[in-house]
Amino acid sequence: MSPSPEVLQKLTPVLTKRWLSPDAWRINTYEKLDGYLGLKKALKSHPDDLIALVKDSGLRGRGGAGFPTGLKWSFIPQNDGKPHYLVVNADEGEPGTCKDLPMMMNDPHALIEGIVITCYAIRAERAYIYIRGEAVHAARRLRHAVAEAYARGYLGKNILGTGLNVELVVHSGAGAYICGEETALLDSLEGFRGQPRLKPPFPATHGLYSSPTVVNNVGTIASVPYIVLGGVDWWRTMGTEKSSGPMIYSLSGRVVNPGQYECTMGITLRELLELCGGMQPGHELKFWTPGGSSTPLFTAEHLDVPLDFDSVAAQGSMLGTTATQIFSDQDCPVYATYRWIEFYAHESCGKCTPCREGNYWMVRILRRILSGAGTYDDLDTLLDACDNLLGRSFCALGDGATSPVTSSIKYFKQDYLDYIEGRKKPLLDARELVGAH
Ligand code: NAD
Ligand code: SF4
Repeated sequence: MSPSPEVLQKLTPVLTKRWLSPDAWRINTYEKLDGYLGLKKALKSHPDDLIALVKDSGLRGRGGAGFPTGLKWSFIPQNDGKPHYLVVNADEGEPGTCKDLPMMMNDPHALIEGIVITCYAIRAERAYIYIRGEAVHAARRLRHAVAEAYARGYLGKNILGTGLNVELVVHSGAGAYICGEETALLDSLEGFRGQPRLKPPFPATHGLYSSPTVVNNVGTIASVPYIVLGGVDWWRTMGTEKSSGPMIYSLSGRVVNPGQYECTMGITLRELLELCGGMQPGHELKFWTPGGSSTPLFTAEHLDVPLDFDSVAAQGSMLGTTATQIFSDQDCPVYATYRWIEFYAHESCGKCTPCREGNYWMVRILRRILSGAGTYDDLDTLLDACDNLLGRSFCALGDGATSPVTSSIKYFKQDYLDYIEGRKKPLLDARELVGAH
């Protein structure tokens, strides 16, 4: 199946435009293909005008929450006598999410250029890229690119002779999902155990070392040079009014060509499936995540929902990290939920009781169901546990863990009942329950 011309038009090679160029990650390639022109243009503007430009562009955070970027920048107090910081959240860890790592591997200078422009706009002289510990290859590539940018005068003192100073440090975490939560990330960066802080106050006023700090995702910051260079009107030709610009959708699972597809925001899964060659032969779509495992599941009913922040929310889910994981009629939603909850139980930082205990018990109940020893009460207990997690956890990790459970019971209760009533062969051995977890 080849995609129709209308669908092909929704591909937007902006953030990915250099990815297929030879040596795309090197500064020479980057400079040849418009690299650092956005910075040169930005340095001719007033910092406040840059914040206004990003506000007008409608850019929303690409890390999952979709908070308006320009608004976040405008919260940074001015003339407060404190140092300001920019921290790039490159701790991409949401199951199924794979957009920031390829961005940093293929085009690290777009991120660095965005960092220098953002530092200029928010009056910060020091920036950090906090990258997840397992991504050794991407950290190495970033460090190489940072050294190149220092050598060419795009980082360091008196950047391009304008008097702007920006020091950039690439910091590798130790591989904890919770360190992607912005305040846990800041604690980890300061050298403490990574656990979330109470919000408010938000990092914009009390961030790194209690100073005003912008924490933005890789994709958000890498978008900034394009907005500066192309302008608001061009940026807004892509996407929808409230979800402007392009977005990288990472498709995985039972599709013919999984991978990253950069498209105008608001594309539907039906159209994405056309772009990636459709479902694998012999597989029919059963359920999918619109934005990683923390977002409530969708089904074949949702094939035509525009994948932008508001349309997905209106259907009871979240755009999240646009990690679309595709499952077929040959996959079991109960088992997928069990694996996700095992992940949340393992990654829970243990600070608050609902998440620490709730996930522990949900894993045990799901194991019991999958081993054929489940009861009807187990479904009520799972929903009750979710009630006590959602809105009662200290951070978004606990809330997110409820999504696969509540949505799989909503759409696939019959699959649960098939295990409970003995119609489905147990997938797990009941002996695993002894001393489990
Ligand atoms: P959030 O909505 O609490 O905050 C979003 C951003 O806006 C934060 O930077 C926050 O500081 C800022 N903010 C919100 N209100 C503010 C205010 N009044 N003043 C100043 N700043 C304000 O969401 P969150 O907890 O940061 O993120 C949750 C999202 O993260 C989830 O939706 C999930 O999709 C996503 N997520 C992503 C990954 C990944 O790997 N990228 C992993 C897990 C979760
Ligand atoms: Fe830690 Fe989970 Fe509580 Fe977040 S919700 S603070 S991860 S225990």
